[in-house]
Amino acid sequence: MVLVVQKYGGSSMADAKRIKNVARRIAQAKDKGERVVVVVSAMGDTTDELIKLAYQISEQPGDRELDVLLSTGEIVSSTLLAMALRAMGYEAISLSGAQAGIRTDATYRRAQILKVEAKRVVKELERGNIVIVAGFQGITDEMDITTLGRGGSDTTAVALAASLGAEVCQIYTDVDGVYTADPHLIPEAQKLTEIGYEEMLELASYGAKVVHPRAVELGELFNIPILVASSFTDSSGTLIHGGVSMEVRNKVRSIAQDLDVAKITVVGVPDRPGIAASIFQPLATAGISIDTIVQNASIDNITDLTFTVAKSQLAKAMRLVEPIAKSIGARECVSDSKLGKVSIIGTGMQNTPGYAARMFGALSEQGINIQLITTSEIRITCIIDESRVEDAVRALHRVFEMEIGE
Ligand code: ASP
Ligand code: MG
Repeated sequence: MVLVVQKYGGSSMADAKRIKNVARRIAQAKDKGERVVVVVSAMGDTTDELIKLAYQISEQPGDRELDVLLSTGEIVSSTLLAMALRAMGYEAISLSGAQAGIRTDATYRRAQILKVEAKRVVKELERGNIVIVAGFQGITDEMDITTLGRGGSDTTAVALAASLGAEVCQIYTDVDGVYTADPHLIPEAQKLTEIGYEEMLELASYGAKVVHPRAVELGELFNIPILVASSFTDSSGTLIHGGVSMEVRNKVRSIAQDLDVAKITVVGVPDRPGIAASIFQPLATAGISIDTIVQNASIDNITDLTFTVAKSQLAKAMRLVEPIAKSIGARECVSDSKLGKVSIIGTGMQNTPGYAARMFGALSEQGINIQLITTSEIRITCIIDESRVEDAVRALHRVFEMEIGE
């Protein structure tokens, strides 16, 4: 019997009606004779609301307590879904992350899965149950509850799929797949029927919100195909897998945008060993994740160092960096919180010259100023003013003729 893991996101589980709708979809898979493990997110905006509540109680709620609190969101949705299935006459059981054997390290709020001991899940499947697992949560060796970082239910789903040897991990959400660009912005954007892990990882890391990058990484590591599809329609979705052929499609596969970019520049930094470490080590210790880092070539042993962070982390980062800048003799620290980034992504760009020039040309035609540029082998990203991101995506979609399709 085929085993599938299905994952339903918060918007698919937002109220009783939607939970019943999800139950019907799961029932269809069961009726086809599949063994089904389901991973759920918390209902709607539950996680945000719980965080807000905690901060109304205390300025420092503490990560351990927060994780127990946040884990309840997925407990609620998993139990309700099991009830919905049972009410329809199906055998179903809900399991917490701990019961499902999701073992993690003790890094509260962003724990890493160390292993999955899925004995109980397997036992319940053997009993004929549909197994509903609370996503986003795990347990440490000390039996403390952890969460995996925002959006972590996707990671739970792929980790379970890998450990159970599932045929496929189906991620159901409120969009029906991965597009050549955000379809809200570009009506002519086309849905991709398939995409490779590498491209999807870049897309997800650079702004496409359909699936969490960590889940894609795990999928690639364990070679688990991931289907991204809508829980509201029956359209076929996008399959993320390893066997996508390179020749038969556009070289730029998709365009991603992200409005959550802020920049800090440390101006007039003395160019000597250890300076970068002295700036970035404290940021790392404070849990601030840095995205792009650019250091200029130095003139007279003085250089500028620019890096980007999420907008919500800008103030905290500035508070840390300003005194360091002073202590190392830098001239000043400046920041800009109104930035965004746009990326073109495609493995087909590898070894084909000219993509960067075309991208920069398209932006300059729109009068868009590029502030920073970063690249990987299969991605080019430009950091620009946030107010021009939409125009940039439109122009790039046109220039790379992405509406022509796959
Ligand atoms: N409920 C969690 C969050 O909102 C996990 C998830 O949705 O995947 O981040
Ligand atoms: Mg969520």
